[in-house]
Amino acid sequence: MPADLFLPALAVLAVALTASAMELRAAMRPPVCSRCVHCRHEAIARREREAREHRLTFASIWRLDDKDDEERRRR
Ligand SMILES: [Zn+2]
Repeated sequence: MPADLFLPALAVLAVALTASAMELRAAMRPPVCSRCVHCRHEAIARREREAREHRLTFASIWRLDDKDDEERRRR
């Protein structure tokens, strides 16, 4: 590998590793305080984000036309 490509490649690798590590950590569901409002909101936001990601994943797997949905969500 040429030397001038090594650093960019390393950066891309680092970003990919960080992203997967963050996903892994999110999937492991760190313990939350059951009564803290912040944690409750955090859990709700995480659930919504996961649901959206799952929808997008399935949409791309089944090649459903999700464009109308996207437009509605953006508004
Ligand atoms: Zn908390």
